[in-house]
Amino acid sequence: MKKIRATVWGENVQDREPGVIKDIYPEGMHTAIAAGLNEAEDIEARCATLHQPEHGLTEKVLEETDVLFWWGHVAHDKVSDEIAERAQKRALEGMGLVALHSGHMSKVFRRLMGTNCSLRWREVDERQRLWVCNPGHRIVQGLGECIEIPKSEMYGEPFMIPPPHEQIFISWFEGGEVFRSGCTWLRGNGKIFYFSPGHETLPIYYQEEIKLVLKNAARWARQEHLWKGADHCPQIPLEKTREKIGRK
Ligand code: ZN
Repeated sequence: MKKIRATVWGENVQDREPGVIKDIYPEGMHTAIAAGLNEAEDIEARCATLHQPEHGLTEKVLEETDVLFWWGHVAHDKVSDEIAERAQKRALEGMGLVALHSGHMSKVFRRLMGTNCSLRWREVDERQRLWVCNPGHRIVQGLGECIEIPKSEMYGEPFMIPPPHEQIFISWFEGGEVFRSGCTWLRGNGKIFYFSPGHETLPIYYQEEIKLVLKNAARWARQEHLWKGADHCPQIPLEKTREKIGRK
């Protein structure tokens, strides 16, 4: 079986400046996320960032990507519409997309959802418990009945998303809120997963269960066969119909 080719896109803005985020993720958050994925023998992850030409997401890179992971926060509007559209098109053809944490507001995720993806939030380092909704699902294999994150950012309902195809996790927070923290959708031939943990000032991407979910997400989201030209919209002329259409 060929390795899953993952690309981890990180906006790499806050995590390149000296401070608490860089202390936790000295090489950038995307590098830590990719390192977690690369622990798996069946996954080959590389990185792309905002500051690279074409944000690191050239036609060739996307052509060679089975699953795109997306972490962005303060620079969603710096991502060009052209690149967001390119990633969306690839997702419709069958590239998997895993939107992480504040990636719920990214251009590519919102394009694929068709809603504004807003939510409630609070940043006080409180406990988060993610309950597994379907223990048989590919994404939760190897987990127990829930994941405990000792310190997390609260993301709460209402979450302005279209109804998920599958609910993978529901979270409870110390402050009492709940949140649909793991959801899947199908778009065209593509599989989309949103996973909410991953606030930048906390070392969440080093937690074993979180790394496991991301590996499983790559395995789930990889589509074996692509639908090339998923955005084509050809007219079928009368002379090309399979059956003769009777005319009076
Ligand atoms: Zn956050």
